[in-house]
Amino acid sequence: MSQGCLFIVPTPIGNLEDMTFRAVKVLKEVDLILAEDTRTSGILLKHYDISTPMRSHHKFNEHESAPKIAQKIIEGEKIALISDAGTPGISDPGFFLVRECRKLGADVICLPGPTAFVPALVSSGLPCDKFVFEGFLPPKKGRNTRLSQLSEETRTIIIYESPKRLQRTLKDLSQFFGEDRPAAVCRELSKLHETINFSSLGQLYNYYSENQAKGEIVIVVAGNQIPGKNKNNNKDD
Ligand code: SAM
Repeated sequence: MSQGCLFIVPTPIGNLEDMTFRAVKVLKEVDLILAEDTRTSGILLKHYDISTPMRSHHKFNEHESAPKIAQKIIEGEKIALISDAGTPGISDPGFFLVRECRKLGADVICLPGPTAFVPALVSSGLPCDKFVFEGFLPPKKGRNTRLSQLSEETRTIIIYESPKRLQRTLKDLSQFFGEDRPAAVCRELSKLHETINFSSLGQLYNYYSENQAKGEIVIVVAGNQIPGKNKNNNKDD
């Protein structure tokens, strides 16, 4: 590593053994690690005996600090970006900094590694040749419009959700997509209590109405096989 570079380094989504050899090597060799939460990442760095200096880079300061960091990379610094879990930029800070580096012509290398949506999609049993990643649905404003648009989507749909909003989201998905639409609730991927609950949206809603979900969750929903079928479900946001 002779020139400056931004390394995007994925970190485990629950299982510490999912850290790659290359991720550890890069984190040991860079000048600085930018972390979403330095306390959370401190545990990981300690586990892998990484003593590189660390600074916080999160959604509240990334807009302001991205141009300055990109400039440092242009000047020769090697900087790694990590988030609390998974791949930075995927429902996590990262995009602004990468865009700023590209604008200035700084090198960016994203290591392949852990992210929640790939194991969720592949283990769901739903078609994984074509899919859309939605991340988190809007909690309020624009939610119904988005759900209405998505109801026509023919590719498999991937949604991130928190356990406390799971029941409501399954209810909304059942209403907009139809109760019979196949779906999977993927919980605690790569962890001890990993579960993939495959059923229909209506049955999943009933199940999670009676059983409070815990842990981290990805919802994978089959695409619309009969486009036009759910068109009248739009409600005003
Ligand atoms: N950057 C991460 C990635 O690459 O997947 C995503 C970060 S986002 C803030 C956190 C969300 O990712 C969680 O609410 C959940 O939807 C999903 N997630 C993260 N880890 C997970 C896991 N072990 N099992 C299931 N879902 C997970």
